[in-house]
Amino acid sequence: MGPACHHAFPDTAGHHTKSLLFKPAMATPEFQQTLGKIASFTGTALHTGEKATLKLHPAPVDHGIKFKRKDLQDEPTIDAKIENLKTVERSTTIGEGSVRVHTVEHVLAALSAMGVDNAVVEMDANEPPIGDGSAQPYVDLIKKAGVTAQEEARKFFDVREPMHVETKTGALLVLLPDDKFRISCTQAGPNNRFTQFLSMEVTPAAFEREIAPARTFVYYEDVEPLMDKNLIKGGSLENAIVVRGDAVLSKEPLRFSDEFVRHKILDIIGDLALVGRRIRGHVVAVKPGHSANAELARALDREHTRRSAMSAPRAIPIGDSGLDSSEVMKILPHRYPFLMVDRVIGFEGENKITAIKSVTINEPFFQGHFPGHPVMPGVMQVEAMAQVASILLFKLTKTSSRVGYFMSADEVKFRKPVFPGDTIFIHAELTRARGNRMAKTKCYCVVNDAVVSEGELMFTFLDK
Ligand SMILES: [Zn+2]
Repeated sequence: MGPACHHAFPDTAGHHTKSLLFKPAMATPEFQQTLGKIASFTGTALHTGEKATLKLHPAPVDHGIKFKRKDLQDEPTIDAKIENLKTVERSTTIGEGSVRVHTVEHVLAALSAMGVDNAVVEMDANEPPIGDGSAQPYVDLIKKAGVTAQEEARKFFDVREPMHVETKTGALLVLLPDDKFRISCTQAGPNNRFTQFLSMEVTPAAFEREIAPARTFVYYEDVEPLMDKNLIKGGSLENAIVVRGDAVLSKEPLRFSDEFVRHKILDIIGDLALVGRRIRGHVVAVKPGHSANAELARALDREHTRRSAMSAPRAIPIGDSGLDSSEVMKILPHRYPFLMVDRVIGFEGENKITAIKSVTINEPFFQGHFPGHPVMPGVMQVEAMAQVASILLFKLTKTSSRVGYFMSADEVKFRKPVFPGDTIFIHAELTRARGNRMAKTKCYCVVNDAVVSEGELMFTFLDK
Protein backbone atom coordinates (compact mmCIF):
# COMPACT_ATOMS: atom_id res chain seq x y z
CA MET A 1 0.00 0.00 0.00
CA GLY A 2 1.47 3.36 -1.04
CA PRO A 3 1.08 6.69 0.75
CA ALA A 4 -1.81 7.62 -1.55
CA CYS A 5 -3.92 4.92 0.03
CA HIS A 6 -3.46 6.32 3.52
CA HIS A 7 -4.97 9.59 2.42
CA ALA A 8 -7.71 8.28 0.26
CA PHE A 9 -10.37 8.99 2.90
CA PRO A 10 -9.20 12.10 4.79
CA ASP A 11 -12.74 12.86 5.99
CA THR A 12 -13.34 9.66 7.86
CA ALA A 13 -9.87 9.68 9.35
CA GLY A 14 -10.05 13.29 10.49
CA HIS A 15 -13.52 13.65 12.00
CA HIS A 16 -13.06 12.45 15.55
CA THR A 17 -16.27 14.16 16.62
CA LYS A 18 -18.17 11.78 14.41
CA SER A 19 -16.33 8.77 15.73
CA LEU A 20 -19.59 7.08 16.71
CA LEU A 21 -20.39 6.76 13.07
CA PHE A 22 -17.10 5.06 12.43
CA LYS A 23 -16.98 2.61 15.29
CA PRO A 24 -15.28 -0.61 14.25
CA ALA A 25 -17.58 -2.25 11.79
CA MET A 26 -18.23 -5.97 11.69
CA ALA A 27 -15.63 -7.57 9.50
CA THR A 28 -16.91 -7.61 5.94
CA PRO A 29 -18.21 -11.11 5.37
CA GLU A 30 -15.99 -13.13 3.11
CA PHE A 31 -17.91 -14.96 0.46
CA GLN A 32 -17.51 -18.53 -0.65
CA GLN A 33 -15.78 -19.00 -3.98
CA THR A 34 -15.79 -21.51 -6.76
CA LEU A 35 -14.16 -21.83 -10.17
CA GLY A 36 -15.16 -19.67 -13.11
CA LYS A 37 -15.20 -22.55 -15.57
CA ILE A 38 -14.00 -26.10 -16.15
CA ALA A 39 -10.27 -26.63 -16.66
CA SER A 40 -8.24 -29.81 -17.03
CA PHE A 41 -4.76 -31.19 -17.34
CA THR A 42 -3.23 -34.57 -18.04
CA GLY A 43 -0.09 -36.14 -16.65
CA THR A 44 1.41 -39.21 -15.05
CA ALA A 45 -0.02 -40.81 -11.88
CA LEU A 46 2.65 -41.40 -9.25
CA HIS A 47 1.83 -44.92 -8.13
CA THR A 48 0.61 -46.56 -11.35
CA GLY A 49 2.76 -44.61 -13.78
CA GLU A 50 -0.25 -44.35 -16.09
CA LYS A 51 -1.80 -41.29 -17.70
CA ALA A 52 -4.38 -39.48 -15.60
CA THR A 53 -6.58 -36.50 -16.38
CA LEU A 54 -7.79 -34.13 -13.70
CA LYS A 55 -10.68 -31.79 -14.42
CA LEU A 56 -11.80 -29.03 -12.06
CA HIS A 57 -15.51 -28.13 -12.14
CA PRO A 58 -17.34 -25.24 -10.46
CA ALA A 59 -19.77 -26.28 -7.68
CA PRO A 60 -22.64 -24.58 -5.78
CA VAL A 61 -22.37 -22.94 -2.33
CA ASP A 62 -21.85 -25.19 0.71
CA HIS A 63 -20.81 -28.03 -1.61
CA GLY A 64 -17.22 -28.15 -0.42
CA ILE A 65 -14.56 -30.04 -2.35
CA LYS A 66 -15.51 -33.45 -3.70
CA PHE A 67 -13.45 -35.89 -5.75
CA LYS A 68 -15.21 -37.73 -8.55
CA ARG A 69 -13.98 -41.04 -10.01
CA LYS A 70 -15.05 -40.69 -13.62
CA ASP A 71 -13.43 -44.04 -14.43
CA LEU A 72 -15.72 -46.07 -12.16
CA GLN A 73 -19.28 -47.21 -12.67
CA ASP A 74 -21.83 -44.66 -11.37
CA GLU A 75 -18.96 -42.15 -11.11
CA PRO A 76 -18.91 -42.08 -7.29
CA THR A 77 -17.84 -38.96 -5.43
CA ILE A 78 -15.86 -38.70 -2.22
CA ASP A 79 -16.13 -35.74 0.11
CA ALA A 80 -12.77 -34.17 0.93
CA LYS A 81 -13.56 -34.38 4.63
CA ILE A 82 -11.54 -35.67 7.51
CA GLU A 83 -14.05 -38.43 8.32
CA ASN A 84 -13.24 -39.96 4.94
CA LEU A 85 -9.51 -40.10 5.62
CA LYS A 86 -8.22 -43.62 5.08
CA THR A 87 -4.42 -43.68 5.16
CA VAL A 88 -1.60 -41.19 5.60
CA GLU A 89 1.42 -43.20 4.53
CA ARG A 90 3.65 -40.87 2.48
CA SER A 91 0.54 -39.29 1.00
CA THR A 92 -3.07 -38.69 1.97
CA THR A 93 -5.78 -41.12 0.84
CA ILE A 94 -9.50 -40.55 1.29
CA GLY A 95 -12.33 -42.92 0.52
CA GLU A 96 -15.93 -43.93 0.97
CA GLY A 97 -17.02 -47.54 0.84
CA SER A 98 -14.53 -49.32 -1.38
CA VAL A 99 -13.74 -46.24 -3.48
CA ARG A 100 -10.42 -44.48 -2.90
CA VAL A 101 -8.52 -41.46 -4.12
CA HIS A 102 -4.83 -41.22 -3.30
CA THR A 103 -2.38 -38.33 -3.04
CA VAL A 104 -5.07 -35.65 -2.66
CA GLU A 105 -3.03 -33.23 -0.53
CA HIS A 106 -1.41 -31.10 -3.23
CA VAL A 107 -4.65 -30.46 -5.14
CA LEU A 108 -6.43 -29.70 -1.87
CA ALA A 109 -3.65 -27.32 -0.78
CA ALA A 110 -3.90 -25.41 -4.06
CA LEU A 111 -7.71 -25.16 -3.96
CA SER A 112 -7.76 -24.13 -0.31
CA ALA A 113 -4.92 -21.61 -0.46
CA MET A 114 -6.12 -20.07 -3.73
CA GLY A 115 -9.49 -19.49 -2.08
CA VAL A 116 -11.68 -22.12 -3.75
CA ASP A 117 -14.34 -23.38 -1.30
CA ASN A 118 -16.55 -25.34 -3.68
CA ALA A 119 -15.38 -27.56 -6.53
CA VAL A 120 -15.59 -31.01 -8.05
CA VAL A 121 -12.21 -32.59 -8.75
CA GLU A 122 -12.96 -35.10 -11.47
CA MET A 123 -10.37 -37.76 -12.26
CA ASP A 124 -10.21 -40.78 -14.56
CA ALA A 125 -7.82 -42.57 -12.20
CA ASN A 126 -7.42 -43.23 -8.49
CA GLU A 127 -4.99 -40.34 -8.06
CA PRO A 128 -4.27 -36.99 -9.68
CA PRO A 129 -1.44 -36.54 -12.17
CA ILE A 130 1.59 -35.82 -10.00
CA GLY A 131 2.98 -33.02 -12.20
CA ASP A 132 6.38 -31.93 -10.96
CA GLY A 133 5.67 -33.01 -7.36
CA SER A 134 4.61 -29.52 -6.34
CA ALA A 135 1.26 -27.69 -6.30
CA GLN A 136 2.28 -25.52 -9.25
CA PRO A 137 0.30 -27.40 -11.95
CA TYR A 138 -2.88 -27.18 -9.83
CA VAL A 139 -2.38 -23.47 -9.18
CA ASP A 140 -1.94 -22.94 -12.93
CA LEU A 141 -5.15 -24.90 -13.52
CA ILE A 142 -7.11 -22.87 -10.95
CA LYS A 143 -5.87 -19.67 -12.55
CA LYS A 144 -6.91 -20.98 -15.96
CA ALA A 145 -10.42 -21.71 -14.60
CA GLY A 146 -10.61 -18.43 -12.68
CA VAL A 147 -11.98 -17.96 -9.15
CA THR A 148 -15.39 -16.40 -8.66
CA ALA A 149 -17.35 -15.25 -5.58
CA GLN A 150 -20.66 -16.85 -4.61
CA GLU A 151 -23.59 -15.56 -2.60
CA GLU A 152 -23.04 -17.29 0.71
CA ALA A 153 -20.66 -16.34 3.52
CA ARG A 154 -17.60 -18.46 4.13
CA LYS A 155 -17.44 -20.86 7.04
CA PHE A 156 -14.57 -20.38 9.42
CA PHE A 157 -13.07 -22.23 12.31
CA ASP A 158 -11.79 -19.66 14.81
CA VAL A 159 -9.16 -20.99 17.16
CA ARG A 160 -10.14 -19.80 20.66
CA GLU A 161 -7.56 -21.51 22.81
CA PRO A 162 -4.34 -23.38 22.12
CA MET A 163 -4.72 -26.95 20.87
CA HIS A 164 -1.96 -29.40 20.11
CA VAL A 165 -1.22 -32.87 18.80
CA GLU A 166 1.93 -34.89 19.14
CA THR A 167 2.94 -38.15 17.49
CA LYS A 168 5.36 -40.91 18.48
CA THR A 169 7.53 -40.01 15.51
CA GLY A 170 8.38 -36.65 17.05
CA ALA A 171 5.92 -34.45 15.20
CA LEU A 172 4.35 -31.64 17.21
CA LEU A 173 1.62 -29.34 15.95
CA VAL A 174 0.31 -26.46 18.03
CA LEU A 175 -2.61 -24.32 16.95
CA LEU A 176 -2.85 -20.85 18.48
CA PRO A 177 -5.51 -18.15 18.17
CA ASP A 178 -4.87 -15.66 15.35
CA ASP A 179 -7.10 -13.54 13.18
CA LYS A 180 -5.27 -14.80 10.08
CA PHE A 181 -4.27 -18.27 8.86
CA ARG A 182 -0.57 -18.54 9.60
CA ILE A 183 1.89 -21.41 9.54
CA SER A 184 5.30 -21.47 11.21
CA CYS A 185 7.09 -24.69 10.41
CA THR A 186 10.35 -26.35 11.39
CA GLN A 187 11.38 -29.27 9.24
CA ALA A 188 14.29 -31.56 10.12
CA GLY A 189 15.61 -34.62 8.31
CA PRO A 190 17.41 -37.64 9.76
CA ASN A 191 20.02 -36.58 12.35
CA ASN A 192 18.58 -33.07 12.03
CA ARG A 193 20.13 -32.62 8.62
CA PHE A 194 18.32 -30.11 6.39
CA THR A 195 16.77 -28.32 9.35
CA GLN A 196 14.77 -25.41 7.94
CA PHE A 197 12.30 -22.89 9.37
CA LEU A 198 9.72 -20.67 7.70
CA SER A 199 6.85 -18.59 9.06
CA MET A 200 4.16 -17.04 6.87
CA GLU A 201 0.58 -15.92 6.53
CA VAL A 202 -1.21 -18.11 4.02
CA THR A 203 -2.76 -15.89 1.34
CA PRO A 204 -3.35 -16.76 -2.33
CA ALA A 205 -0.47 -14.50 -3.43
CA ALA A 206 1.99 -15.80 -0.81
CA PHE A 207 1.02 -19.40 -1.56
CA GLU A 208 1.51 -18.99 -5.28
CA ARG A 209 4.87 -17.30 -4.86
CA GLU A 210 6.42 -19.03 -1.85
CA ILE A 211 4.81 -22.45 -1.46
CA ALA A 212 3.20 -23.83 -4.62
CA PRO A 213 6.50 -24.39 -6.51
CA ALA A 214 8.08 -26.39 -3.65
CA ARG A 215 8.41 -30.02 -4.71
CA THR A 216 7.98 -33.29 -2.85
CA PHE A 217 11.19 -34.59 -1.34
CA VAL A 218 11.91 -38.13 -0.27
CA TYR A 219 14.71 -39.88 1.55
CA TYR A 220 16.46 -42.51 -0.53
CA GLU A 221 16.20 -45.08 2.30
CA ASP A 222 12.41 -44.67 2.26
CA VAL A 223 11.83 -44.99 -1.47
CA GLU A 224 14.39 -47.68 -2.30
CA PRO A 225 12.15 -50.54 -1.09
CA LEU A 226 9.19 -49.05 -2.96
CA MET A 227 11.19 -48.78 -6.17
CA ASP A 228 12.28 -52.40 -5.72
CA LYS A 229 8.64 -53.47 -5.40
CA ASN A 230 7.68 -51.26 -8.34
CA LEU A 231 5.13 -49.39 -6.18
CA ILE A 232 5.96 -45.95 -7.52
CA LYS A 233 5.98 -46.58 -11.25
CA GLY A 234 5.45 -42.90 -12.05
CA GLY A 235 8.12 -41.70 -9.61
CA SER A 236 11.21 -40.06 -11.06
CA LEU A 237 13.59 -37.21 -10.46
CA GLU A 238 11.15 -35.15 -12.53
CA ASN A 239 8.52 -35.18 -9.79
CA ALA A 240 10.47 -35.54 -6.57
CA ILE A 241 13.72 -34.48 -4.99
CA VAL A 242 15.63 -37.45 -3.61
CA VAL A 243 17.84 -36.93 -0.57
CA ARG A 244 20.62 -39.47 -0.23
CA GLY A 245 22.92 -38.81 2.70
CA ASP A 246 23.99 -35.22 2.26
CA ALA A 247 23.35 -35.28 -1.47
CA VAL A 248 20.27 -33.74 -3.03
CA LEU A 249 19.30 -35.36 -6.33
CA SER A 250 16.78 -33.79 -8.68
CA LYS A 251 16.36 -33.03 -12.36
CA GLU A 252 16.41 -29.28 -11.87
CA PRO A 253 18.25 -27.45 -9.08
CA LEU A 254 16.47 -26.55 -5.84
CA ARG A 255 13.86 -23.84 -6.43
CA PHE A 256 14.43 -22.39 -2.94
CA SER A 257 17.32 -23.02 -0.58
CA ASP A 258 14.66 -24.05 1.97
CA GLU A 259 12.42 -25.89 -0.48
CA PHE A 260 11.82 -28.76 1.99
CA VAL A 261 10.14 -26.70 4.72
CA ARG A 262 8.05 -24.99 2.05
CA HIS A 263 6.78 -28.35 0.85
CA LYS A 264 5.98 -29.31 4.46
CA ILE A 265 3.84 -26.16 4.69
CA LEU A 266 2.16 -27.15 1.42
CA ASP A 267 1.24 -30.55 2.87
CA ILE A 268 -0.09 -28.97 6.10
CA ILE A 269 -2.39 -26.68 4.09
CA GLY A 270 -3.61 -29.64 2.00
CA ASP A 271 -4.26 -31.94 4.95
CA LEU A 272 -5.98 -29.24 7.02
CA ALA A 273 -8.25 -28.49 4.06
CA LEU A 274 -10.03 -31.71 5.10
CA VAL A 275 -11.56 -29.72 7.98
CA GLY A 276 -13.84 -28.16 5.35
CA ARG A 277 -13.70 -24.70 6.97
CA ARG A 278 -11.22 -21.87 6.71
CA ILE A 279 -9.00 -21.78 9.75
CA ARG A 280 -8.28 -18.54 11.56
CA GLY A 281 -5.34 -19.55 13.68
CA HIS A 282 -1.59 -19.99 13.77
CA VAL A 283 -0.21 -23.48 13.16
CA VAL A 284 3.19 -23.97 14.75
CA ALA A 285 4.58 -27.21 13.38
CA VAL A 286 7.72 -29.11 14.33
CA LYS A 287 8.71 -32.02 12.06
CA PRO A 288 5.18 -32.35 10.70
CA GLY A 289 3.96 -35.23 8.55
CA HIS A 290 0.68 -36.41 7.09
CA SER A 291 -0.31 -38.40 10.14
CA ALA A 292 0.21 -35.48 12.55
CA ASN A 293 -1.53 -33.10 10.15
CA ALA A 294 -4.50 -35.47 9.94
CA GLU A 295 -4.65 -35.75 13.71
CA LEU A 296 -4.84 -31.99 14.02
CA ALA A 297 -7.59 -31.90 11.38
CA ARG A 298 -9.51 -34.49 13.41
CA ALA A 299 -9.06 -32.50 16.61
CA LEU A 300 -10.43 -29.40 14.84
CA ASP A 301 -13.40 -31.33 13.55
CA ARG A 302 -14.19 -32.68 17.04
CA GLU A 303 -13.86 -29.22 18.52
CA HIS A 304 -16.23 -27.85 15.89
CA THR A 305 -18.83 -30.51 16.72
CA ARG A 306 -18.43 -29.79 20.42
CA ARG A 307 -18.93 -26.07 19.86
CA SER A 308 -21.97 -26.39 17.68
CA ALA A 309 -23.52 -28.50 20.43
CA MET A 310 -22.71 -25.86 23.05
CA SER A 311 -23.98 -22.93 21.06
CA ALA A 312 -27.57 -24.14 21.41
CA PRO A 313 -29.86 -21.16 21.73
CA ARG A 314 -32.03 -21.03 24.85
CA ALA A 315 -35.04 -19.57 23.09
CA ILE A 316 -37.04 -21.61 20.63
CA PRO A 317 -36.24 -20.28 17.19
CA ILE A 318 -39.24 -19.66 15.02
CA GLY A 319 -39.75 -19.94 11.31
CA ASP A 320 -37.11 -21.63 9.25
CA SER A 321 -34.37 -21.62 11.87
CA GLY A 322 -35.92 -24.27 14.10
CA LEU A 323 -38.99 -26.34 14.91
CA ASP A 324 -40.83 -26.58 18.20
CA SER A 325 -42.38 -29.82 19.40
CA SER A 326 -45.71 -29.32 17.66
CA GLU A 327 -43.97 -28.61 14.36
CA VAL A 328 -41.80 -31.69 14.89
CA MET A 329 -44.95 -33.76 15.39
CA LYS A 330 -46.41 -32.45 12.15
CA ILE A 331 -43.41 -34.02 10.39
CA LEU A 332 -42.78 -37.16 12.40
CA PRO A 333 -45.55 -39.70 12.91
CA HIS A 334 -43.91 -40.93 16.14
CA ARG A 335 -45.59 -40.29 19.48
CA TYR A 336 -44.81 -40.94 23.14
CA PRO A 337 -42.94 -43.02 24.12
CA PHE A 338 -41.26 -43.30 20.72
CA LEU A 339 -40.87 -39.65 19.78
CA MET A 340 -37.18 -39.03 20.45
CA VAL A 341 -36.97 -35.36 19.36
CA ASP A 342 -38.12 -32.51 21.61
CA ARG A 343 -37.18 -29.66 19.36
CA VAL A 344 -35.09 -28.77 16.31
CA ILE A 345 -32.74 -25.97 17.28
CA GLY A 346 -31.30 -25.20 13.88
CA PHE A 347 -30.52 -25.99 10.31
CA GLU A 348 -27.21 -25.15 8.69
CA GLY A 349 -27.70 -24.81 4.96
CA GLU A 350 -29.70 -27.63 3.41
CA ASN A 351 -27.58 -30.46 4.70
CA LYS A 352 -27.27 -30.08 8.47
CA ILE A 353 -29.67 -30.18 11.36
CA THR A 354 -29.32 -30.07 15.14
CA ALA A 355 -32.09 -31.17 17.48
CA ILE A 356 -32.36 -31.84 21.19
CA LYS A 357 -33.87 -34.54 23.35
CA SER A 358 -34.05 -34.17 27.11
CA VAL A 359 -33.79 -37.56 28.74
CA THR A 360 -35.81 -37.81 31.94
CA ILE A 361 -36.14 -40.57 34.52
CA ASN A 362 -39.74 -40.93 33.34
CA GLU A 363 -38.71 -42.49 30.02
CA PRO A 364 -40.39 -45.92 29.97
CA PHE A 365 -37.18 -47.69 28.93
CA PHE A 366 -35.44 -46.83 32.19
CA GLN A 367 -37.83 -49.15 34.07
CA GLY A 368 -36.18 -52.17 32.58
CA HIS A 369 -32.79 -50.82 31.40
CA PHE A 370 -31.64 -51.39 34.08
CA PRO A 371 -33.46 -51.56 37.43
CA GLY A 372 -31.37 -49.56 39.91
CA HIS A 373 -28.94 -48.49 37.17
CA PRO A 374 -30.79 -46.46 34.53
CA VAL A 375 -28.87 -46.16 31.23
CA MET A 376 -30.45 -45.08 27.97
CA PRO A 377 -30.38 -47.96 25.47
CA GLY A 378 -28.09 -47.35 22.51
CA VAL A 379 -30.81 -48.35 20.06
CA MET A 380 -32.95 -45.49 21.33
CA GLN A 381 -30.09 -43.12 20.46
CA VAL A 382 -29.99 -44.60 16.96
CA GLU A 383 -33.76 -44.10 16.80
CA ALA A 384 -33.26 -40.46 17.84
CA MET A 385 -30.63 -39.99 15.11
CA ALA A 386 -32.94 -41.58 12.53
CA GLN A 387 -35.83 -39.31 13.51
CA VAL A 388 -33.68 -36.19 13.32
CA ALA A 389 -32.23 -37.26 9.95
CA SER A 390 -35.78 -37.90 8.71
CA ILE A 391 -36.73 -34.31 9.52
CA LEU A 392 -33.76 -33.13 7.47
CA LEU A 393 -34.77 -35.35 4.54
CA PHE A 394 -38.38 -34.22 4.88
CA LYS A 395 -37.22 -30.66 4.40
CA LEU A 396 -35.32 -31.69 1.29
CA THR A 397 -38.13 -33.70 -0.28
CA LYS A 398 -41.19 -31.80 0.88
CA THR A 399 -41.89 -30.58 -2.59
CA SER A 400 -41.59 -34.05 -4.10
CA SER A 401 -43.87 -37.03 -3.95
CA ARG A 402 -41.26 -39.23 -2.31
CA VAL A 403 -40.60 -39.95 1.33
CA GLY A 404 -37.45 -41.27 3.00
CA TYR A 405 -37.39 -44.56 4.92
CA PHE A 406 -34.69 -45.60 7.36
CA MET A 407 -32.89 -48.48 5.69
CA SER A 408 -29.65 -49.28 7.51
CA ALA A 409 -27.09 -48.09 10.04
CA ASP A 410 -23.35 -48.47 9.65
CA GLU A 411 -20.34 -47.74 11.82
CA VAL A 412 -22.56 -47.28 14.85
CA LYS A 413 -20.50 -46.60 17.95
CA PHE A 414 -21.65 -46.08 21.52
CA ARG A 415 -18.96 -44.15 23.29
CA LYS A 416 -20.43 -43.06 26.62
CA PRO A 417 -23.51 -43.91 28.68
CA VAL A 418 -26.49 -41.53 28.70
CA PHE A 419 -28.21 -41.07 32.05
CA PRO A 420 -31.52 -39.57 33.21
CA GLY A 421 -31.19 -35.77 33.28
CA ASP A 422 -28.92 -35.60 30.24
CA THR A 423 -29.78 -33.39 27.29
CA ILE A 424 -28.74 -34.98 24.00
CA PHE A 425 -27.83 -32.73 21.11
CA ILE A 426 -28.48 -34.75 17.99
CA HIS A 427 -26.61 -33.69 14.88
CA ALA A 428 -27.32 -35.08 11.44
CA GLU A 429 -25.59 -34.20 8.21
CA LEU A 430 -26.55 -35.34 4.75
CA THR A 431 -23.29 -36.70 3.37
CA ARG A 432 -24.51 -38.25 0.18
CA ALA A 433 -27.62 -38.32 -1.94
CA ARG A 434 -27.88 -40.47 -5.00
CA GLY A 435 -30.54 -38.90 -7.17
CA ASN A 436 -33.82 -39.25 -5.33
CA ARG A 437 -33.26 -42.93 -4.58
CA MET A 438 -31.07 -42.98 -1.53
CA ALA A 439 -29.45 -40.69 1.04
CA LYS A 440 -26.69 -41.19 3.56
CA THR A 441 -26.39 -39.19 6.76
CA LYS A 442 -23.69 -38.93 9.40
CA CYS A 443 -25.20 -38.53 12.84
CA TYR A 444 -23.85 -37.76 16.31
CA CYS A 445 -25.41 -37.66 19.75
CA VAL A 446 -23.58 -35.22 22.02
CA VAL A 447 -23.97 -34.83 25.80
CA ASN A 448 -21.94 -32.36 27.85
CA ASP A 449 -19.62 -31.59 24.94
CA ALA A 450 -18.78 -35.24 24.35
CA VAL A 451 -19.92 -37.51 21.54
CA VAL A 452 -21.87 -40.33 23.22
CA SER A 453 -22.86 -42.17 20.07
CA GLU A 454 -22.56 -41.88 16.32
CA GLY A 455 -23.51 -43.69 13.16
CA GLU A 456 -24.00 -43.51 9.41
CA LEU A 457 -27.68 -43.88 8.62
CA MET A 458 -28.97 -44.73 5.19
CA PHE A 459 -32.40 -43.86 3.86
CA THR A 460 -34.22 -44.94 0.76
CA PHE A 461 -36.89 -42.87 -0.94
CA LEU A 462 -40.23 -44.35 -1.86
CA ASP A 463 -43.37 -42.84 -3.33
CA LYS A 464 -45.67 -41.41 -0.70
ZN1 LIG B 1 3.49 -33.39 -0.39
